[in-house]
Amino acid sequence: MRCSNCGVCCTETEMLLSKKDIKRLEKIGFSKNLFVVFDKHGYAQLRNREGYCFFYDRLNHQCSVYVERPSGCRVYPVILDEDKGIILDSICESGKSITQSEKNLKGKRVIRLLEIIDSEALERCK
Ligand code: SF4
Repeated sequence: MRCSNCGVCCTETEMLLSKKDIKRLEKIGFSKNLFVVFDKHGYAQLRNREGYCFFYDRLNHQCSVYVERPSGCRVYPVILDEDKGIILDSICESGKSITQSEKNLKGKRVIRLLEIIDSEALERCK
């Protein structure tokens, strides 16, 4: 898939984070308090800053932590819709360039990732 760097997916992000994502970003020097928000159900997600993901570089229109970006950002625009299952997020223009095999592969990753994120959120609420 070819990303056009439009930044739509990094605007008002609700991207969920796994513990592994948080650790990876802490390792490159970011304090968790800066980039993570927890909701009342124990889910960790990326913090927004002035309407964009904390890590979005508005000047250069790119992710400032691209190499270490969260797993959910890596599998995007493949997402899980509660009613439809694995789909391509319709707000992503570049989604059209994704192949069926890439979608299938990313779909499996999305399911695995959400299982991990769900169990971590549950653990936090105990
Ligand atoms: S981490 Fe990077 S790719 Fe993911 S939402 Fe933030 S700016 Fe976008």
